[in-house]
Amino acid sequence: MSLDENELPRTEDEWRVRLSPEEFRVLREAGTERPWTGEYVDTKTPGVYRCRACGAQLYPSDTKFDSHCGWPSFDDAIPGAVKEIEDDSHGMRRTEIRCARCDSHLGHVFRGEGFTPKDTRHCVNSISIRLEPAQG
Ligand SMILES: [Zn+2]
Repeated sequence: MSLDENELPRTEDEWRVRLSPEEFRVLREAGTERPWTGEYVDTKTPGVYRCRACGAQLYPSDTKFDSHCGWPSFDDAIPGAVKEIEDDSHGMRRTEIRCARCDSHLGHVFRGEGFTPKDTRHCVNSISIRLEPAQG
């Protein structure tokens, strides 16, 4: 399933061939899908969410919770799978999250909102991830 490190595209043109235009806009140009439009907003299916760009495992489904914000929300990631980058765009200080393996944009992370005991919300675009349902 997962691709070898060497098989990852090296240029944005190579990514553009691999991804759909909307996937490219979000994953490689840090776009944001409109709230409540993503396919995983209300998904409760057990499994693991992978990076849609490179296939790396990012979020077990048991970290997903209902935030009612319009995007899939997770309170933790698989250790080392997601990296954080300070983002000052749009006049806000936010923390962008990207796939640690392929550097594709996932969404933003927020802390201190009190949604779950971990007090963390990874707000992720559905189009940045793909659910691999658990066997059985
Ligand atoms: Zn990736």
